Amino acid sequence: MQPLIDPHIHMVSRTTDDYRAMALAGIVAITEPAFWAGFDRSPAGFADYFRQLTEGEPARAAKFGIRHHTWICLNPKEAEDLGLAAEVLRLLPEFLDHPRALGVGEIGLNKNSRNELRVLEEHLAIAAARDELVLVHTPHLEDKLKGTRLIMDAVRNFPTLRPERVLIDHAEEHTVREILDRGHWAGLTVYPVTKCSPARAVDIAERHGPERLWINSAADWGDSDPLAVPKVAAELRRRGHTPATVRRLLYDNPAAFLGQSPKFALPDR
Ligand SMILES: [Zn+2]
Repeated sequence: MQPLIDPHIHMVSRTTDDYRAMALAGIVAITEPAFWAGFDRSPAGFADYFRQLTEGEPARAAKFGIRHHTWICLNPKEAEDLGLAAEVLRLLPEFLDHPRALGVGEIGLNKNSRNELRVLEEHLAIAAARDELVLVHTPHLEDKLKGTRLIMDAVRNFPTLRPERVLIDHAEEHTVREILDRGHWAGLTVYPVTKCSPARAVDIAERHGPERLWINSAADWGDSDPLAVPKVAAELRRRGHTPATVRRLLYDNPAAFLGQSPKFALPDR
């Protein structure tokens, strides 16, 4: 079986059965961005959450032979509360220092509000000062193009953040070209309902080529699919793509972006 990487998945809200199914489907490594819990947390909850991301979840993944890395931030959905944001931002350096933390993420915008933009800029300043990789969430549906542009403009205000070290995730047909043209990596997210289907993701990859693209499930506590990446592999094979293409898109590419952090390692094979 071909090895696969799902570079964006929220395992704290998935079951051990999911881990087992992912391992059986060939997933050997995952990365887990910090995210909204589905409800707004108090500042006290974040240190525990970051410990779960850096310690608890890597240990759980290892039982299934899956290598787990994480990303640390305050997600944009909780960025409206500037008092909370200031408290969480103070925690960031300690957890970014952890050997399993690859960078700052998933930051970005949700409703493209003024407070969200301010907290985004504070995260980018931390990433620039520490030379961290950055993983960016883009807003849904009608706000996506505007939000994607606002985020890329904000990134450009930090010249030491090199574009190839910033991945803009949840790209779609109408945003992927602009993201790639600005020198960033683009992420495609495969979801059962919103976002891309496996067929749409493969269409986009065929149209734009595999350069600087990664594909993920972004599976979380909602309606989502931890086997989205293996389903994209199946769709690629169904269309007659070679094993080399499957490997490039679903293994080599994420490994190349993530490997810009010296902390990233794949399991011994
Ligand atoms: Zn996510």
